[in-house]
Amino acid sequence: MMLKFPEYPFTPILGWSISRFETFDKCKRQYFYQYYSKYVRGVPIYKITKLKELTTVPLEVGSAVHDCMEALLARLQKSDSTIDEGKFLKFADDKLREYFSSKTFIEIYYNQTAELDFQAASEKVRVCLENFLGGPCFNWLYMRALINKTGWMIEPPGYGETRLNGLKAYCKMDFLFPVEDEVYILDWKTGAKDPAKHAAQLMGYAVAANSNFSIPWNRIYPKIVYLYPQYDELEISVGEQEPEIFFQRIKEQTEMMYAYCKNVEQNIPHDISKFERSPSPTMCRNCKFQELCE
Ligand code: SF4
Repeated sequence: MMLKFPEYPFTPILGWSISRFETFDKCKRQYFYQYYSKYVRGVPIYKITKLKELTTVPLEVGSAVHDCMEALLARLQKSDSTIDEGKFLKFADDKLREYFSSKTFIEIYYNQTAELDFQAASEKVRVCLENFLGGPCFNWLYMRALINKTGWMIEPPGYGETRLNGLKAYCKMDFLFPVEDEVYILDWKTGAKDPAKHAAQLMGYAVAANSNFSIPWNRIYPKIVYLYPQYDELEISVGEQEPEIFFQRIKEQTEMMYAYCKNVEQNIPHDISKFERSPSPTMCRNCKFQELCE
């Protein structure tokens, strides 16, 4: 089976995604800064761009692990010879070092610490990758998935645009591959488990795969692979009623976000004053845009 993502003509209307709605739900003001930055008045564009590009140590640990997993899978596609673990971990360390030296971190920008702990972050990346190499998923890929490696989609390009029951949405998958007439979707996690959120994410992948590739529900297997602190997996099986419930939830969440647009079709937001600030000091402390809210 060969999978191909459909292409959609550009439309300005907003598209639902787990992360978009999560930001909207937590702080409307942060949502405005993140998704409607061109409508921010009185702040130079370069400043907004700089704030949007701020990152955190956990995010960069996640990026380094994802990049290494991508490189590992691409290497397996070319050759199934044994992975040189030492070389692989060195590659990961170099990747992380590159990110630490080239990016601006919230922790430094907002004076939360004088120095970043590279060793601790590097150790976490190492544990994640070793957990993967020693875990059942890696073995299983060798045993079953390598047979059809030409059909693998590793970090598919783009933002994962799709349509869920006619609504524009984004479901970006890490790794998607067919095995005979089934499709497997894997997503790597380096942070804490959040079963409710991650099960919703898996449901999004399942409905996107069903809608994009017309694959029956009972042949789609989405799975979260937790890599830290121990290896673990989260799988869902899609019951008959669940897609309908999921579509309804996406529709409600999309309509909640539409309500903050004065022109829904063109995705033009209401004035920033309608986007309330979060009352959570913890959230503000970890927010990229805190400088704009002071
Ligand atoms: S600093 Fe706080 S209130 Fe302001 S955008 Fe960030 S999370 Fe929201």
